[in-house]
Amino acid sequence: MLLYRPCEIFGKNDTSVSTLFVRAEEKDGKITAFVRLCDNDKECESESRDDEYERYPDGINIAKTVVGRAFCSCAESVYGFKSPFGIITGIRPAKLALSYLERGFSREEIRDIFANCYMMDTDKADVLTDIAQRERSLLHSLERDTFSLYISVPFCPTRCSYCSFVSYSTDRLLSMIPQYTERLIADIKRVSQVTRELGLSLYSVYVGGGTPSILSEEQIKQLLDCVNGSFDTSKMREFTFEAGRPDTVTYEKLRALRDGGVGRISLNTQTANDEVLRVVGRRHTFADYLERLSMARDVGFDSINTDLIAGLPTESLESFCESLDKVIDAGVENVTVHSLTLKKSSDLKTAGEFDLLREGIRVRNMLDYAGKKLKDEKYLPYYIYRQKNTVGNLENTGYARENKECLYNILMMEEFHSVFSAGAGAVSKLVSPDRQTIDRLFEQKYPYEYLAKEESGLDFDAVRCFYREHF
Ligand code: SF4
Repeated sequence: MLLYRPCEIFGKNDTSVSTLFVRAEEKDGKITAFVRLCDNDKECESESRDDEYERYPDGINIAKTVVGRAFCSCAESVYGFKSPFGIITGIRPAKLALSYLERGFSREEIRDIFANCYMMDTDKADVLTDIAQRERSLLHSLERDTFSLYISVPFCPTRCSYCSFVSYSTDRLLSMIPQYTERLIADIKRVSQVTRELGLSLYSVYVGGGTPSILSEEQIKQLLDCVNGSFDTSKMREFTFEAGRPDTVTYEKLRALRDGGVGRISLNTQTANDEVLRVVGRRHTFADYLERLSMARDVGFDSINTDLIAGLPTESLESFCESLDKVIDAGVENVTVHSLTLKKSSDLKTAGEFDLLREGIRVRNMLDYAGKKLKDEKYLPYYIYRQKNTVGNLENTGYARENKECLYNILMMEEFHSVFSAGAGAVSKLVSPDRQTIDRLFEQKYPYEYLAKEESGLDFDAVRCFYREHF
C-alpha cells in the first residue's frame, strides 16, 4: 500500500536549486521509504525501512518517521549538516523522552531508540533523558486542582536587534503602560474569579515579557497586591518575575518584588561582552548587570536566573565562553542558554546578515562548551525547548542548581497542568488531567488591540465547559 505517493518538490533560492523526491509504501507489515535529494550538482538517494513498530510511543506517525530518516541521511550527505536532534522536529523534545520513561523504558533503551530510530546525537539523547527524569518527579507530585498563572508585560526600554517578540519600545507606545497595567489587573481578577469558582489553587506565577521590570515601583506593587489578594495561594510553590534588562532594575523595585512575595527573578545580560551588548541594541553593560545582581542579593533573592544567547552577532566562541564563565562566577542559581533564533520580524533577519547553516557549527560549539562547563559546576539541565529558525537547528536549555529549578518553566513547557494567562499576547492553556486534551484561549496579540477591546480577559464559558468535560 502506498503511504506517500511518489512526489517531487522543487525549491530555489539565490544560491541553489534543489529537488526532493519522496515515496513510501507498506508491504508485508513493513514500511519502506525512498528519498532522493538533489542540490545544484550534489545528489543523494536513501532508503529507510522499519520493522520495530513496538518501539514507538502511541501517536507517533511511523511512516513520517521512516521518511524522515531517509531524508536526514540524504541531507547529511548533500549539505554536510546533520541536525543534532535527528528527525525530531517538535518544540518539546523532552516530552518524547518522558513518554518512554512512563512506559518503562530504561535510560539505555531510550538512548538506543533516539540514536537509531530518530537519528539523534547521543549527547542530546542523554540530556533529554536527564531532563525527563527530573520532570517526572514534578509530574507525579502535582495535584489535579492546581494551575499556574502567566502575566504578560510586553514592553521594553529598547528593541534588541534579534528580537522577534511583540514588545513595545518607542516612547509613544511606552506611554500606554499605565492604562495597560490597569487593564491587566482587571484581567487577573477575572482569572481569579473563574479559578475560585472551579476550586483551583495557584501553584506558580510567572510575570514575563518583554521586560516586566519596566513597570514603576508603584505599578509593580499594584500588580503583586492584586495577585496576592485574589487567589487561593495555599499551594503556591513559586513566584517568578522577569527583571530582564538590568537598565530597568532599581533597588526600590527589587524591594517591592521581594516584599510582594516574589521568590525568583530573572536578570538577563545575554552576554558579558559590552561591545556585543552595544551591537545588539541593549542599553546596559555587564557591570550594570553585576551591580543589579548584588542589589538583588542585598534584598534577599536566593533564586536568580540569567539568560545567555549563543550566536549573537559579533560574539566569538571565546567571548561566549568567557560570558558563561563570568555568569557562573557571579553565582546565579539558574543559567538559561538560548541559541540565537532569527524570525522574520527581527531587525537582524531583515538585515540579511546571517547564514544559518554556517553559523550553526559555531553555535553548536558554544552549546557544547556550556553543557560541559555547567555540568562541571553542578548545574543540571531541567527544561529544554526548540524554536523554528534557530541557528543550527539547536535548542534552548535551562540549567539549575539542585532544587532551584523554575517549576513554571517545566509545567508550561511540558504541559503538565493548566496555565491561565493575562495580558496582551497571552495564551491560556487548559490541560486535562491525563494531558491528552489541551485547549488554547488567545488574548489580543498587540497591546493597542488589547486596550482597544471593550472587555478583554478569559472566556469564562470556554473554561467552565473544559473543566466540566475533563475534570
Ligand atoms: S528584552 Fe527581550 S523582549 Fe525586549 S526587545 Fe530584547 S529580546 Fe525583545
